[in-house]
Amino acid sequence: MSKYFRELYKNYSPYETADAVYDIYLYANENPINLFITLTDDEKDELMFVNYNRYPDADCKELKAAYADYIGVLPENITVGNGSDELIRVIGDVFLEEGEYIVSHEPTFSMYARSAEVARGKYFGVAPDPVSLCADVDGLIAKANELKAKIIYICNPNNPTGQPWEESDIRKVIESTDCIVVLDEAYGEFAGINNCDLALEYDRVIVLRTMSKAFALAGMRVGFAISNKEITGVLNSAVDTYNVNTFSQQAALLMLQRKDKMRIIAKDLVAETQRLSAELDKYDEITVYPTVTNFLLIKTEKSKEIYDALREKGILIRGYSKGMLSEYLRISAGTRGENDAFLAVVAEVLG
Ligand code: PMP
Repeated sequence: MSKYFRELYKNYSPYETADAVYDIYLYANENPINLFITLTDDEKDELMFVNYNRYPDADCKELKAAYADYIGVLPENITVGNGSDELIRVIGDVFLEEGEYIVSHEPTFSMYARSAEVARGKYFGVAPDPVSLCADVDGLIAKANELKAKIIYICNPNNPTGQPWEESDIRKVIESTDCIVVLDEAYGEFAGINNCDLALEYDRVIVLRTMSKAFALAGMRVGFAISNKEITGVLNSAVDTYNVNTFSQQAALLMLQRKDKMRIIAKDLVAETQRLSAELDKYDEITVYPTVTNFLLIKTEKSKEIYDALREKGILIRGYSKGMLSEYLRISAGTRGENDAFLAVVAEVLG
């Protein structure tokens, strides 16, 4: 049977996800507060009495208008995706010819590499500074030019390090290369980052945003690409028809109306992340990397002991079994109580 599969899919392992069966889930950088429970009865009715027997608005017109208003561009600069994951795959589809490269800074979101493989392209991850894990900006530019890369991904703030990019470094990458430069700002709200104006200023720049993180809508799968009209036209033609279902479009509209509440929660989560950071920094056995967002990365020789002890107590964080991060753990900030429970287990292991 296997002879029928594309070579890539013969030994392909799916993207690593976890069952949400844990009492405390500090794994996927989501918002632990479900903003949906703030819906009024009228809003719930609005969601109920929609013509679900009809296909969704393929153009997401209302949602594009509302998001354009929120993020500060025009609707004609927006492509809506079934999560930004879909948009990452579509960007690979649209720009990569067979064998062409996507280049990014490691460690970063693994979906960029996957999108290259799926599009029959290649991926090269440029190693960071070994101590700070900061991206090697000049190394990234040199490698992209050497490989004649088609796409560069900049993850800002970066998953999993939590580090931001200086705007001057982003401009340097754009201006020193001839690539499509994708700025993934999935965690932009937490860090107060919004570089959508760069997508309008430069014709080779795409900004990715999502409602999965600060807007607490990971289960609805709504992401956005911001780009000039020409790129947007092509991305719109390349996403699946009816890719964003009616319920998700409605839900996203309702959450956009709660942007002030979202901002307050996001600020609290960043403060909780800083509290976790300060508490973990007290242990000699742990190196904590500075973060500007709602998760943090630590390095410790005791990573397995900590990870296992947490699991036993029903707490899931992100461990890395393979690759350059085997001694690292990533913790997404939860509620104050959840974070305290996490810290208590760490204290038991290291205390
Ligand atoms: N970009 C980054 C950096 C992420 O961490 C994630 C989620 N893990 C995504 C994009 C995808 O987000 P979504 O598909 O939920 O919009």
